[in-house]
Amino acid sequence: MPPKGIRHRFAMKNKNMNEMNAEITTINQKNTTPDDDSFQHSVQKSTKSRKRVQKSGGTSTSKENRPKRQKPFADRKIELTITSSTSEDEDLDFGEDGLYPVKEGQLLKKRYKISKLLGVGGYATVHMAMNQKTKDNVALKIVRCGEWYNEVSDREIQIMKTIKNSSCEKLDSDSPIGANNVVSLLDNFRIKGEYGMHVVMVTEMLGPDLFSILVKSNQKVLSFDRIQRFSRDILNGLHFLHSNCGVMHLDLKPENIMVTIDPDSMDLNDPNCLASVKIGDFGLTCYTTEDVTRTVQSCCYRSPEAFLKAHITPAADIWSFGCTLYEMATRELLFKCNDSENCSRVFHMDNLSNLLGPIKRSLFKKEKENEWPLEQVFSEKKVLTGHPESTNFICPEELRKRTLMDEHQAQACSDFMGELMKIDPKKRLTAEQALKHPFFMEHC
Ligand SMILES: [Zn+2]
Repeated sequence: MPPKGIRHRFAMKNKNMNEMNAEITTINQKNTTPDDDSFQHSVQKSTKSRKRVQKSGGTSTSKENRPKRQKPFADRKIELTITSSTSEDEDLDFGEDGLYPVKEGQLLKKRYKISKLLGVGGYATVHMAMNQKTKDNVALKIVRCGEWYNEVSDREIQIMKTIKNSSCEKLDSDSPIGANNVVSLLDNFRIKGEYGMHVVMVTEMLGPDLFSILVKSNQKVLSFDRIQRFSRDILNGLHFLHSNCGVMHLDLKPENIMVTIDPDSMDLNDPNCLASVKIGDFGLTCYTTEDVTRTVQSCCYRSPEAFLKAHITPAADIWSFGCTLYEMATRELLFKCNDSENCSRVFHMDNLSNLLGPIKRSLFKKEKENEWPLEQVFSEKKVLTGHPESTNFICPEELRKRTLMDEHQAQACSDFMGELMKIDPKKRLTAEQALKHPFFMEHC
């Protein structure tokens, strides 16, 4: 059972600098989405509780009755609301194998003073806390108790320590490029709860995840410039993980990409707005030297080799990045799941073939151990052939229907996604090669 991603809960209205990176309040943005209704529709389908709240400035005067001059779009402020994935009164499981009950103001390890709950996932709770020594705000992930959770989180800590050591190998030199695009572990310890020991991971305080911004907020589509910048950050992070740390993330998706935004200029469509992204959540991460046999990657971002339990390499992360790039551009999933409870390998592989063309069985043969998934998907066939009439969602024409991109940008993005999502993992770009793709040369 892979751990579920941790979703953040964002309380609004707090202007505190330290908290600002964890909470988005308002964003100035242009209302220039080409097909606003379709975007709205697609987002509402995926998040039932999505709300749009107009900013109430409290400046109501008698002038309100006069005919108003329309403000330029760029001056309008739209309150960005990120809907919580957990409700205030949700019953949290504190029993056996359950969560650790933390109280506001509680001091852990005589150092970390809990200030508030940021999120609840299937695997842990995440709290904001202040390090009493440094006075920095940090994020504390307190994992459920129980042997399975302890083992999984110990492994995650081991991986995060490897990453940390790789980012400061040479003490007197700068960190390698990409080290800043990966969430770093600051501390880890255990605390005793009523039902057993809980692992605690301390990381830097981060902003909302990209999923919250793309799907669970009223943020409009990202500008091409912003998509390029975030893509560069993600690829730098992946290159660092693959080449410097010798690890593969294996669960790259918008939920695991954290966004940090300059609180003074929060318009992601404004080129001057400082925002960067970092890759987090290393619960499924493996060393590149490992023979990965367990199920990795969330199914909507899962590579063909992971579906077929074939040899897993860093190219699997590049595939997930391709799916994430599509989502950054359109706010829609490229590959949807048939059923989150009973996800079908055959359904997903058919969809990959519909979009990307024939898939050869021979490419994914791995001695005896993956015969059964190959048999399930291919049966007697040597090649999986998709429906010729299927919509090619990543072709430039389709991208233009769903994004703000012009002809050249759509062409560059389409070419880039084609290179990132090659069926044959050996033919996919590496992170380093991807950073040199003409997609990054295209100007807005
Ligand atoms: Zn699925």
